[in-house]
Amino acid sequence: MKMILVFSIALMTINFTTFSIAEDSIAFIELSEDLVVDQRLIDLLQFKNNSAKMITEQLENLQLSSEQLNAAEQYIVLVLRAIAFEKEGDFDNAIELLEQAHTLDDKISKKQLNTPLFSQSQLILANSYLELKQFDKAYLAKKNYHGRLQNFTWDEHDKKVELLNEKYETQQKQQRNELLLSQSKLKRLELKELESRNNSQQINTLLIVAIMIVFLLLFIRQLVIRKQLVKLAKTDDLTQLPNRRSLFEQGEKLVHYAHKEKILLSIVVVDVDYFKLINDQHGHDVGDKVLKQLAVIGNEVMRSRDIFARLGGEEFVALLPDATLDEVKAVAERLREKLSVFDFTSLGITKFLSLSIGISALNDEVTNFEALLHDADSAMYYAKSHGRDQVAIYNETMNITTLSRVKRSVY
Ligand code: GH3
Ligand code: MG
Ligand code: MG
Repeated sequence: MKMILVFSIALMTINFTTFSIAEDSIAFIELSEDLVVDQRLIDLLQFKNNSAKMITEQLENLQLSSEQLNAAEQYIVLVLRAIAFEKEGDFDNAIELLEQAHTLDDKISKKQLNTPLFSQSQLILANSYLELKQFDKAYLAKKNYHGRLQNFTWDEHDKKVELLNEKYETQQKQQRNELLLSQSKLKRLELKELESRNNSQQINTLLIVAIMIVFLLLFIRQLVIRKQLVKLAKTDDLTQLPNRRSLFEQGEKLVHYAHKEKILLSIVVVDVDYFKLINDQHGHDVGDKVLKQLAVIGNEVMRSRDIFARLGGEEFVALLPDATLDEVKAVAERLREKLSVFDFTSLGITKFLSLSIGISALNDEVTNFEALLHDADSAMYYAKSHGRDQVAIYNETMNITTLSRVKRSVY
């Protein structure tokens, strides 16, 4: 008797604690993988504290036909009806219905049977057996209940672990994706930076090239200006012929060169006869134009290697390297001839112009340009003093050889 009492107290204790677990666990039921149970039946089971009458009425109200119910639903209906009997104290019928429900175990998955929704039938069975004092069966039913509850807990645990694993993997994936995303962002940024570095390098190179070009252009411009200045310094403004300074520079070089290389060199001094009268009668501008024209004619009769320069005023000088005296005489005559027949009527000059020309050739006694020029000048003055409009040659005996005589002196 004493043993029975201890056993029943122990069972009641288990009953009390496990029942509260069962009630709490209902909220976690997931039937998605299992047989679908009509929600109304689940709701009824949650209100199993209602009276037997209410449970029976509500069950009838659902108007369920057993053919349409699946094994799980049939199971729940039997449990509900067993609860109604249990509440009325009809434990035998309750046990019968519950045992009937348990015959459906084969048709329901183990996992679903482990859920508190289904496993509580074992608890109700244990209670009924306990009421009937069939302690062995009560113990067995209670043991079944706890076994299933334990399995359910494990299942839930596994599920949670699985869920956590999935969550972990998803997070891992997300992190990997974020990492990849930030890596690709970084790459893009690096590429952009590289691109902009290249661009700025290109801009720098372009700038350097541009600056170099500007400097080069400035340098070339300077050179051109310098050349122009040098040319200006050596050119006569009016006639554009080499000026006196240039004549002396080139003359000096040529004399030196001719001595050194033993080549012929002659100089021709040209002076316009009565030029002052032209200025006086026709004006200074006309005089300028006559001088310009003389420069043109002078260049025409010279050879390419000869130099025709303006010595000053209405006096001109020609330097003829590598030419025999006859050739020089011929050039001088051509110049005199050409000017003497030139028609200046467009300038208002109706009379003809003439030139007095002196020639001297380089020899061993003449060591510099000035001396050579001086000799030619003497010859020119000789021509002038002996009637103008003629060419005179300076010779070694200081006698001036007159080449041509005055033909028609107009002024
Ligand atoms: P001659 O036959 O003796 O050489 O007489 P000329 O009148 O030619 O010589 P003169 O030395 O008396 O006069 C030279 C003139 O040349 C004087 C001067 O006014 C003029 N003259 C000098 N340079 C220029 C110039 O650049 N332009 C013009 N129009 N006249 C000039
Ligand atoms: Mg003169
Ligand atoms: Mg003169």
